[in-house]
Amino acid sequence: MPRNFRSLAVALIRRLALLAMGCTLLFSAVQGVWIYHSVQQQLLGNIQYVAGSNVPMLSVALWDIEPEVVQRQLDVIAARPGVGFVRVNVVTGQMFESGDASLLYHNRVSRFLIPTPAGGGKPLGELLIVVKDGYIYQQVALSLAGMLLGYLLLTVLICALVVYVLRRDLEQPMRTMAAFAGRLGPQTLTSPLQLQRAQRPTQDEIDLVAAGFVTLQNALTEHIDSLDQQVEERTQQLEGALAEIRALLTHDALTGCYNRAFLSERLPQETARAQRSGQPLALVFCDIDHFKQINDEYGHLIGDEVLREAASRLRSQLRGDIDWVVRFGGEEFVVVLPDTGSDNARQVAERLRDAVATTLQLADGRRLQITASLGLAIWQPGECMDDWLKRADALLYRAKMHGRNRVES
Ligand code: GH3
Ligand code: MG
Ligand code: MG
Repeated sequence: MPRNFRSLAVALIRRLALLAMGCTLLFSAVQGVWIYHSVQQQLLGNIQYVAGSNVPMLSVALWDIEPEVVQRQLDVIAARPGVGFVRVNVVTGQMFESGDASLLYHNRVSRFLIPTPAGGGKPLGELLIVVKDGYIYQQVALSLAGMLLGYLLLTVLICALVVYVLRRDLEQPMRTMAAFAGRLGPQTLTSPLQLQRAQRPTQDEIDLVAAGFVTLQNALTEHIDSLDQQVEERTQQLEGALAEIRALLTHDALTGCYNRAFLSERLPQETARAQRSGQPLALVFCDIDHFKQINDEYGHLIGDEVLREAASRLRSQLRGDIDWVVRFGGEEFVVVLPDTGSDNARQVAERLRDAVATTLQLADGRRLQITASLGLAIWQPGECMDDWLKRADALLYRAKMHGRNRVES
């Protein structure tokens, strides 16, 4: 079952975004603790400063017994950032307050003595400053929110950049290569892989894969070429073998003449043609004289040689693409002469007899005389093949009877 496709760039960017978010959260937690401490320190410093700058004025106001000024002063302090509640306890038992008094019971309280304006004697009272509820957390949350927003924007920007680079430098070339590999076949084997990439001074993995494709294509092309060559060679060998088999079906292996199977198939075609055209058709039955004697005296190998020589001599006297010779059996040949009347046939038969009648010089120095007897019969319209052959054979027999090395017709 084919699995769902998910782009490499998408998978990478997902992981990258998750990782970035995890890092951001971790970093923010650490940052949060740090901000908390620094805001706390800052707040305490502020309260110290506020107290330091207000205590002398409060001292003067208490000394001069000006409650409105004291109260106003407290209101100013309570309005400072981070301050939730302020109280002045005067030694006389008088008390001034500003802000949310409930904070006194659960928030941090900073206490400052209010000395006399001259500095000597007992202090005039005590200044209590209480931190505003949740102020530090609020500050931490504000700082963290700003920071997180910054991180988030940066992460999104980096991820977008990475996606762009991945798409351009990785995804597109990969897709092009995948499509190219999918199309690769015998017809497209020579077409090169075209990656639209900017010129770079260095190579990367994509270049290596592209180079691998070129090597693969070359190797495949070479392999196919060699296969084609092999197929060509085998085909030639098969065609040669087939031609030999065909020749064996219609030819005699010893003499190269046609065989009897061919005669049976071809002779009726010749008679049909003669019937149609009205042209004469001649047949010469040729038998080598005393061939048994030749075999006995010189051996069968020489006998075979005599058969080959006689066949070659017969063929040499004929019209190449019109007349044809069949080895009828043993030392008997049938020569078919289309479009040949009795006078011409008689001349050809004499020529054949003359060509075969010869003295062969054997390798061992002995001499061997060959002659042949021939019977010539012209086809008579309507005559069947066997009757015609029998007539020629009878004439041949007559030639033997009349002393051999002669033609009877
Ligand atoms: P005739 O003059 O009356 O024709 O006498 P002949 O000896 O030629 O006739 P016969 O038919 O008695 O002998 C034919 C011989 O041919 C007999 C056979 O051994 C031989 N022969 C048949 N086929 C082959 C062959 O392929 N090679 C060889 N060497 N001899 C063959
Ligand atoms: Mg014979
Ligand atoms: Mg014979």
